[in-house]
Amino acid sequence: MKAMSLRSVCAAILLFAPTAFAEEDSDTTVVRNVRIFDGTGDTLSETSRIVIRGATIAKVAPDTGALPEGARVIDGGGRVATPGFVDTHVHLMTSLHVMQMMNASDWTLALAAADNMRKMLQRGFTTVRDTGGADGSIARAVDDGLIAGPRVFPSGRGISQTGGHGDFRLGAAPHPMLDDIAFFRTFANLMVLADGRAEVLAAARENLKHGATQIKIMGGGGVTSEFDPLHAVQYTPEEVRAAVQAAENHGTYVVAHAYHDRSVRMLIDNGVRQIVHGHLLTEKTIRYAAKKGVVIQAELVWSRLNEEFGRRAGLSEESLAKNRDIVARTGEYFALLKKHGIDVAFGTDIVGPHQQFQNREFTLRGEHFTPAEVLRQATSVAYDLIAMSGPLNRYGRFGVIEEGARADLLVIEGNPLEDLSILERPDETLRLIMKDGVIHKRAL
Ligand SMILES: [Zn+2]
Repeated sequence: MKAMSLRSVCAAILLFAPTAFAEEDSDTTVVRNVRIFDGTGDTLSETSRIVIRGATIAKVAPDTGALPEGARVIDGGGRVATPGFVDTHVHLMTSLHVMQMMNASDWTLALAAADNMRKMLQRGFTTVRDTGGADGSIARAVDDGLIAGPRVFPSGRGISQTGGHGDFRLGAAPHPMLDDIAFFRTFANLMVLADGRAEVLAAARENLKHGATQIKIMGGGGVTSEFDPLHAVQYTPEEVRAAVQAAENHGTYVVAHAYHDRSVRMLIDNGVRQIVHGHLLTEKTIRYAAKKGVVIQAELVWSRLNEEFGRRAGLSEESLAKNRDIVARTGEYFALLKKHGIDVAFGTDIVGPHQQFQNREFTLRGEHFTPAEVLRQATSVAYDLIAMSGPLNRYGRFGVIEEGARADLLVIEGNPLEDLSILERPDETLRLIMKDGVIHKRAL
């Protein structure tokens, strides 16, 4: 008999691993005696029960009558239940300090990401969209039960032009093409440099091959990158159309990083359907985006953290100045987004060890929106944004508590519809964390 190849050994291990986890899913669980924020409404329900079969919510009903035979019953004690939270802008691979990341092996990065994801799940996030860094292997590791974490919609590497927001090469580093190293990868696999139609197509297709559910491109200047002013437009219309074409051929969309009118106009006019950031946009462009049905996702916590910790984290004076420009405009910007009815899906975009402050975004959003609006942004609105990946969403509906949706649930001590800041203390206030019907924390 021929010796078993390494590949078939790995395949055998993978065949057995999910089975152990699937068994746990087969039970019926009832979470009873909870008041439900369902992800779409404004208020809490009467005292209710949620029946979960496998990974799915089977029934939501008033908490009366007999319980299903043999079910595992969890008494919520009259507390609030919400859908698991969704963060539409994370970088899972970047929880280490910058210098650690620059020197880390792929193994270290993967282990750090696993630790990061476990913590994110414990903060209540059952789904995330990674907009640069994680690929399909990270998403698969969660689905296969190899690590505990949120389900992941990965973008692979963010695609950037030379000298763009993804060009984190040190100042004296050689240029990838001139030095014949195709598609230079920046630290933590966060970005890939691609210039010209052919390279952008190849970079996008490479990401999709490795399980990306959407394509991320850098369409304008950024804060943390050293060599591109905020006012820069990045990529030509032809290069943007190349990314859009590759994404659409694969059934999905392009999400672009950009802050200001000129870049956002160019991106929209060449087929980009989602913008992240946009803090320097004027009302005219916001109206244009709304008219074209383009989704804008913006965040508050990252620029505040840069203000607080950026200098110590090694940001240059130029980067700190760029960050100040963004912070100064944020209040007016969010007021305009609200005025034009743009649902700003919850996202945080924190790079580095300060991801521990992810839930501060809830409190900061409370300065601009009602608590119910913020909770919708972190549940059903975030789902709508992620679901633009169409057939690449393998999970169906989530971000709501309704029959047929994924059984992602939180039971919370205190009422976030009255005080969002309680979510900044997830260790104390999250009493139950369930994802796909599997309990990841129970303090009830
Ligand atoms: Zn980002």
